[in-house]
Amino acid sequence: MSEWGDPVQVELSHRTYETLGLKRDAEVFLAVERAKSIHRGSEEGTVMTMALAIGTEAGKKLSAVELLEWAFFKFYPSLALACSFQAEESVLIDMMHRLRGPDFRVFTLDTGRLNQETYDCMDAIRGRYRIEIEVFFPDFTKVEAMVRRHGLNLFYESVEQRKLCCGVRKVEPLKRALKDLNAWMTGLRREQAVTRADIRGVELDNDHGNILKINPLVDWSHDQVWQYIRENNVPYNRLHKQGYPSIGCAPCTRAVRPGEDLRGGRWWWEHPESKKCGLHVKTQPVAENQL
Ligand code: SF4
Repeated sequence: MSEWGDPVQVELSHRTYETLGLKRDAEVFLAVERAKSIHRGSEEGTVMTMALAIGTEAGKKLSAVELLEWAFFKFYPSLALACSFQAEESVLIDMMHRLRGPDFRVFTLDTGRLNQETYDCMDAIRGRYRIEIEVFFPDFTKVEAMVRRHGLNLFYESVEQRKLCCGVRKVEPLKRALKDLNAWMTGLRREQAVTRADIRGVELDNDHGNILKINPLVDWSHDQVWQYIRENNVPYNRLHKQGYPSIGCAPCTRAVRPGEDLRGGRWWWEHPESKKCGLHVKTQPVAENQL
């Protein structure tokens, strides 16, 4: 028995994972091993819990609902969905409600630059599911200082200024939202963007204190999301019906043409590789020769 618990679960070798054809889970496993070495001696045992959780579950291919059930079992109430009121999050909220009634947590970041349609969607979801939504706003002193120096539309000036705005209006509030959580959930899907091509169902979030990041819809297609919404009559952001496959802040998002990239309307003036707001930072990559 190691200090981390049952060695059968947490000390599976990466070769075992490879043998099972689960290379991506081997990467999660190795990330946890790294976290364990960083946090060895942690009194809270949070990382140990995560290591055990992943060790137990990583060998399975879980459906979105199974992954949600597992996440609630392991982490609730230190678990919440990050919601920007896009179609994927509507699906996840409906799934969670079917599993648990209103007993789940949802938070959102109100940047101060959202579309009215997004606020309308928020209210529709609150009403339909009878849930409270935890809203995090930016630090107004930072917004005031930024706007005083760079203007309200600074994001059009340069990638650096756009990232400054995302940092103040999104990244810092997200840190506060995640501060007391052991795991968070998102509606990220691989298909959404080149910058999301290698995301996984379960990741270790190095940027937020090595908590778990769970993406239950990681393998879902655009059509699957919309089939679920239609079949279950789920409330959704009406911007989706106005040509917005991806929704963010009003001045930084526009409708796309048919066939255009799903995130082509986000920061459309930038190259695809730079289109990150800092909320979804990649987990630490693992080289081939480490597996
Ligand atoms: S998406 Fe645009 S408006 Fe919103 S925080 Fe980022 S730069 Fe600022």
